[in-house]
Amino acid sequence: MPSLTLGNFELSIFSDGTYPLDGGAFFGVVPKIMWSRKLPADEKNYVTAGLNSLLIHTEHPRTGKQNVLVETGMGNKLSERMVKFYGQPAQLLANLAAAGIAPEDIDIVINTHLHFDHCGWNTVRNNKDGKIVATFPRAKYYAPEGEWQYARRPSERDAISYIPDNYDSLVQSGQMTLLKGGEEIVPGISVKTFPGHTAHMQAVLVESGGRTACYISDLIPTTAHVDLTWGMSFDLYPLQTIESKKQYYGKAIPEKWLTVFTHDAKIPWAYLEKDDSEKMVAKGVTPSWRS
Ligand SMILES: [Zn+2]
Repeated sequence: MPSLTLGNFELSIFSDGTYPLDGGAFFGVVPKIMWSRKLPADEKNYVTAGLNSLLIHTEHPRTGKQNVLVETGMGNKLSERMVKFYGQPAQLLANLAAAGIAPEDIDIVINTHLHFDHCGWNTVRNNKDGKIVATFPRAKYYAPEGEWQYARRPSERDAISYIPDNYDSLVQSGQMTLLKGGEEIVPGISVKTFPGHTAHMQAVLVESGGRTACYISDLIPTTAHVDLTWGMSFDLYPLQTIESKKQYYGKAIPEKWLTVFTHDAKIPWAYLEKDDSEKMVAKGVTPSWRS
């Protein structure tokens, strides 16, 4: 499990597994001859996408020890039809357990948006009565308010991506707090809205000791998407994706932010730079790298 220290925080990547995704859909208008050099496709044109959650362990003098989990993967509640497309890797809880982390140990869960592959383990179906319950019973959950509003009446285009069982009961019970954007959730961990993929998607910023990491979610899903114009066809507002990326690079490059990628199966985090020809490049850090 890749981990590193960022100021007072311990950051670790926990995967919910990998899944096949249509390469053309993943890279929007980019020709296959270009994207397949970065991410090879199989005979069905599928590429392998990752499901990286970020665990932030904090020990703050005021708030004590806390485990903050950003994103909860695809979970184990997919319909049969969706399992046909994506499988159901469902490895997040086992990977957390292997590191000695039980669901009860998670204090805070943050969802950047509410697509099924980002909040799937928010809830599980109770074995006894089939009721939907919080996977992380003690956790306070957070998600963008605009996302939840949109998810109640999504467009036909992306309705399949919203599974109300992943969040509705949490909102109703008050276990999930809806965010406007810009809030600090615990000292040093805050959210910032980057529209484009959806209108209200929020990245998660982790700041400590003069350093910053950013879980950028589907604004830049993998290191193969760092070029300004390499967006996904899933993006609802592709021109805004470009503007949001410009805004992000304007801070992340000069301030040397560590960028965390949700869907990169190989490189979960990297520093972004421009090379001599002004091309964006991602410099990965080795899994065992520590500052
Ligand atoms: Zn998404």
